[in-house]
Amino acid sequence: MRNKYHNKKTKNKLIKHKMTTSDWRKILKQIENKPAIKARFLKYCKPKDRKFGISVKKCVRCGRCGAHISKYNLHLCRQCFKEIAEQIGFRKYI
Ligand SMILES: [Zn+2]
Repeated sequence: MRNKYHNKKTKNKLIKHKMTTSDWRKILKQIENKPAIKARFLKYCKPKDRKFGISVKKCVRCGRCGAHISKYNLHLCRQCFKEIAEQIGFRKYI
């Protein structure tokens, strides 16, 4: 038996919601008030939960995958680090 979501129109709708791993939670925010679409998204379009790989290390502040600083257990991206470095006690020596 074919699933009712398997026609072409809804399939294209699903693909529209696909985004990179870093910002799929933003999509969830968008479809928060649409329970049917949200359930469908979580079933078919949610990125895999990964145990290893580049997307496991994410910035705790903004969720970015790239330019990750894990030294001193910071777990920030370089952009966030630049913004809050002085607040968390780093000093710039010239
Ligand atoms: Zn960041």
